[in-house]
Amino acid sequence: HTQTFEIRRATAGTTLISDTDLPPHGQFIDGAFRPSTSDATLPVIDPCDEQEIAQIANGTTDDVDAAVAAATAAQSAWGKLTPKERSLILLQIADRVEANTELLVRLESANTGKPFEVSRDDIASTVDTFRFFAGAARAITSQAAADYTEGHLSVILREPLGVIGVVTPWNYPLLMAAWKTAPILAAGNTLVIKPSEQTPLTTIKFAELVADLLPSGVLNVVTGIGAVVGARLSEHPGLAMIALTGSVNSGRAVAAGASDTLKRVHLELGGKAPVVVFDDADLDAVATGIRAAGFWNSGQECGAGCRILVHESVADQLTEKLVDQVSSFVVGEPGAGDDVEIGPMVSRAHFDRVVGFLSRAEAAGISAAVGGSALDGPGFFIAPTVLVGVPEDAEVARNEIFGPVVTVETFSTEDEAIARANSVPYGLSASVWTENARRSHDVAARIDAGTVWVNSHLVLATEAPWGGFKGSGYGRDLSIYALDDYSRTKHVMHNHGR
Ligand code: NAD
Repeated sequence: HTQTFEIRRATAGTTLISDTDLPPHGQFIDGAFRPSTSDATLPVIDPCDEQEIAQIANGTTDDVDAAVAAATAAQSAWGKLTPKERSLILLQIADRVEANTELLVRLESANTGKPFEVSRDDIASTVDTFRFFAGAARAITSQAAADYTEGHLSVILREPLGVIGVVTPWNYPLLMAAWKTAPILAAGNTLVIKPSEQTPLTTIKFAELVADLLPSGVLNVVTGIGAVVGARLSEHPGLAMIALTGSVNSGRAVAAGASDTLKRVHLELGGKAPVVVFDDADLDAVATGIRAAGFWNSGQECGAGCRILVHESVADQLTEKLVDQVSSFVVGEPGAGDDVEIGPMVSRAHFDRVVGFLSRAEAAGISAAVGGSALDGPGFFIAPTVLVGVPEDAEVARNEIFGPVVTVETFSTEDEAIARANSVPYGLSASVWTENARRSHDVAARIDAGTVWVNSHLVLATEAPWGGFKGSGYGRDLSIYALDDYSRTKHVMHNHGR
């Protein structure tokens, strides 16, 4: 593999953010920033140059308890607002985020190293999420039925759950916060949110930006590490539910932590999306589709189309097209220009993890048709990579790499393709590429994934549910289904007989 990638660097001295762009220090509890009960802090690192850009509070269980108390005190009044009143506030939040798009884009890119293209999409989707749930808040309807039992009228109501804990990951920091916050508020709940300790800046900034729009205590942000703040939220007796987007291991810890109090658990975990390519597929469309869906957000994407299963008769042709596509990526720092498409891994730890996958694959004799290794620092950059001739049981074929790496395996029959697609513990998303309608329906039906695209991959809609099967978790984000997850069903039965 001769292709090498240069890291495009921003001009020396360019900074994406100034000190005044940073959010205030402290925990956002009961409508204001206050110091943590501990003086301990955590560094926030720019993954492009490995320099510290901020310090955040390393929160405590006491901080969580104070935030839960504030959210509890605020819930009843928030839950009693009319849908219209809550909806209007969510629309104002959307407008406020939209008006601060440039600032939030710079903050998100400075903290994650994301290309501006990705951060812009994140912030636009954040705005759309609040607008959708503002509308959905007013569309919650109850059901009534007469005479399930003679002389009785049943009224079936949706109620808020109460206070909900939210734990978010580093790959889409503000967007994942919005996916939870918007439906939680729309359904009349209040919340305490813990952003990833690696990428907390936009979530804290969001709280600052919308503070005057929400009654105190409705939204609370507590920063800190998962094992302390996240664990306390999972175990807290005052919470009705805990929602996590994160890794499978964190999902297990949250579900275990929640078991004593039997609170509701909502888990959006990892993925290893198969891209199943049949011999009648439009291979140019597949190659450009994988360029977009396998490498968006530098592959740090739970739905990334990263495991290509291609019919053996077209494997060479597809690989050639894919190599062309992937070779043309512009790798660099967000500050180096709008055309940068691939940024760094978010952290040293995650970079080491991805490099580990690549070096073990190389040691196992798996070859890279393009890329295959880290790029010279500073910064956590990895070359966009296509691994070819990958055996079904290879580590890189079965585990979520979460970097700019796709693997190519071949199959010979439709049944084999489906069995392979379903052979990993994940079940978040998948795609099927074929011009044959019988086959696309049948294969989509037989793949165990919460989302299956046909001749497409990674296109999301706020109106459509997102969430996994199997080891990818349970519960749904986005869509009207999320409102069901964040509310409870009550049956009131009236005896109107004599
Ligand atoms: P992570 O699990 O390391 O961290 C996620 C969050 O969980 C962080 O805020 C972390 O502090 C917290 N956490 C860690 N241990 C915890 C514990 N014991 N109790 C409570 N909270 C704890 O995940 P990450 O590395 O930030 O994110 C990447 C993962 O997220 C990937 O596996 C990816 O697939 C997944 N993800 C899934 C979706 C989806 O919609 N399904 C979306 C984005 C990311």
